[in-house]
Parts: sequence; structure tokens; C-alpha cells
Amino acid sequence: MASKFQAPRGTFDVLPEQGRSRARVQHAAGRIFARAGYEPIATPAFEDTDLFVRGVGRSTDIVRKEMFTFEDKGGRSLTLRPEGTAPICRSYLEHGMHKLAQPVKLSYVGPFFRHERPQAGRYRQFHQLGMECIGTESPLADAEAIMLLHDLLAELGVPGVELRLGSLGSFAARQSYLEELKAHLHAHEGDLSRDVRERIDVNPLRAFDADDEGTRGVMAEAPTIVAALEGEDAEHFAEVRSLLDAAGVSYEVDPTLVRGLDYYTRTIFSFVCDSLGAQSEVGGGGRYDGLIEQLGGPATPAVGWAAGIERILLALGEEEAVAGRDAFVAVADPGQRQRAMVLVTELRNAGLSAEVDLGGRGLKGQFKHADRIGARRVVILEADGTAQLRDMESGEQRPVETANLIEEMTGGEK
Ligand code: AMP
Repeated sequence: MASKFQAPRGTFDVLPEQGRSRARVQHAAGRIFARAGYEPIATPAFEDTDLFVRGVGRSTDIVRKEMFTFEDKGGRSLTLRPEGTAPICRSYLEHGMHKLAQPVKLSYVGPFFRHERPQAGRYRQFHQLGMECIGTESPLADAEAIMLLHDLLAELGVPGVELRLGSLGSFAARQSYLEELKAHLHAHEGDLSRDVRERIDVNPLRAFDADDEGTRGVMAEAPTIVAALEGEDAEHFAEVRSLLDAAGVSYEVDPTLVRGLDYYTRTIFSFVCDSLGAQSEVGGGGRYDGLIEQLGGPATPAVGWAAGIERILLALGEEEAVAGRDAFVAVADPGQRQRAMVLVTELRNAGLSAEVDLGGRGLKGQFKHADRIGARRVVILEADGTAQLRDMESGEQRPVETANLIEEMTGGEK
């Protein structure tokens, strides 16, 4: 019977077969983070609204249009987290992590919320995994961050991935560049989309992201910040590039690259996948040297990224094949159920995957079920206490001593 309730617009249920692929992505990320010393951190699903207004930036789409904001019973304004970096920086300050040996290397995974127009690859609740390296301005940290995401996508086998790399310069350099860009935009106001025109003075960089023809024409002629980089900013960017070159990570410098959050300085990057269509970014991030200060802490340089788990799964375009089971323990007689339960537990404790019938099926039904779950072998416990072992692929069946079963089943494979 159909329920009158459905998952809210822009959200989805993760069903068991999808859960398996998801777990594989998370395990791969967990391994990569652990090997490189990025410790897991978790922050609440909602925060003070002001954290995002100050952290992500008042003029960004996220803050202007996409936040799920509500008032709690005490009249406080709270927001379901639209991203993870500002909350982690809040936590870093709140727990005095700036007093630890720097940098502090953190990783996370969890749900995030943005009130966007839903489409393939864009949801209102989605899941990100990511890392932050807080407390160093070394270009090594930027290169390491990029390499971790590169390695994760490679290990998972995400096809057709390209890395775009840019730099926004330091905060001061960016200010003088922004003046130049605003002057260019004002000079061509008539050709810009209304949205871009209205935000020339608050967020001119977003004009690089616009998809209307008029704005794109104006932006093709616009000055780029990468061309304007000088001094330490230029050196930092050159060093990041040469570290990536040395590591054999290929990338394309994209002078028009911008990101939808205000806090970025210097390095920014984006991994895109051609099979994803309009929402082509699998993951991205960059350096945010001003964010912690912006949140009231000491000046603290940092770099990090987030990748969308749904985007990775879409790019992989596969549902994981059913994993199958090493064994199914069937009972020829209900009197053997207790013995079956003991045996299945022994098999599991020996590291094998095994199931027993929980549905009160007859022997024929149990065989059907064993087949359905992909059991490679079925142990049949007979009413007289003996047992048979059936190989489901060859159909071969022979008597077996249950005491020797584990050895028989693991012995040949080791
Ligand atoms: P951002 O936090 O905007 O830099 O996004 C980082 C990554 O999160 C993107 O590359 C996407 O993979 C993913 N992402 C961002 N917004 C959404 C969304 N609304 N739905 C699904 N994935 C998203």
C-alpha cells in the first residue's frame, strides 16, 4: 500500500543497495585520511545562523537564498549547516586547538543542507566528506590536500576526472584586483544579467560563474586574478603547481575559477567530471587564510576541501554488485533451528558471511532464499543431527562434519 508520505522535496532515502556503494566510498576516504594523519571530527547538524553569515559571507548565494534557518524555542536563530568549514573553525577556536602543535589536520563526513532547486546531483540534503588542515600557510599543505582528493577519486575509479586550479591571491591583493574587476563590470553594465549587475559591488567574482551569454562575453574580456598575482602570492601558487607536477598530478590552471563561498584566499581548486552534466563538480576547496580571524580568532592560515558523496556515486554510475554470502545454514527440520543459530554464529566469528532463515520457510523456500542472497554454499542440517554441504555453483552435495566446517570453508581459500 502506498504511503501518503514521501521524502521531502530535494531529499532521498538511501536504500540498502545504495548504502553499500556509499559505505565503500566512506571507507576509502577513511583509509586515505587515516594514512595521512587527518583525524575525524564531527560537529552539530545546526549552528548559530551568524556563524554562516560571517563565515560563508553575506553576499553568497548560500547565505542569501539557500539556508534552512529557524528559530528555536529560546528565540535563537539557528541554521542547518550548509557547509562544514565554518563549523570546524568554530570548533577549533572553541576547544583551543590553536594551542596545539600546528597544523591541526581534521577530516569529516556527514549531511549538509541547502535550499537549492533540486536536480540530478543537486539536493537539499546531501552528504559531503572532506578535510581541513588548519594552522599552516605552507604550499605543501595545499598540495597535500589536493593530492588526497586526487587519490580518493583515483582509488574509487571515478572516470573522466579533471582538476582545475586557480589562485585568488591574498586578501589584500584580492581587494585591489576586485576594484579593477568592478570597473570592468561597470563599464559593460548593459551586457550583464540583472543578477550579476545588482551584485557588481558586493560580489563581482560570481560574474565568472554566470551562464548567460551577455555576461559570459563581458567576462571573456575581464582581467583575471591569476594574471595579476605578484610577490608572495605568485610564489605560493608557483610552489603549489610545482609540488603537483613533482607528484605527477595533472591539472589545468583556470584563471576564471571562483567558488561559491567568500572565505577563500590564494589556492582554489575543483575536480570536475564530464559525465555529470550541469552539476559537474565532484569536489573542491581551497585555502582560507582569513576565516578564523573573521570568526574572532587569531590570524590562522588553513586549507581544505569537500567532496559530494552523491556526486561521486553518480560519476561512478554503478550500483555495487550484490556482495553475496559465504554460506547459508538451512534446516531440514525445525528441530535443528537452535543448532543452525549456533553454527551461523561460529561461521561469522570466523570471519565468514553467513545467514540463517529468519522467515520460517520450508527447505525448498530456504534454498530459494539462499540463491536470492547469493550464497555460495548451503549447509543443510538434517533431522538426525548429520549435515550436508552443497556448493551452489556446481550443485555438488556431500556429507560434512559440522565440527570441520570452518576449516573446510576457509582452508581452500587461504
Ligand atoms: P561546496 O561546499 O559548495 O564547495 O561544495 C563541495 C561539494 O559538495 C561539491 O563539489 C559537490 O560535490 C557537493 N555539493 C554541493 N552542493 C550540493 C548539493 N546541493 N547537492 C549535492 N551535492 C552538493
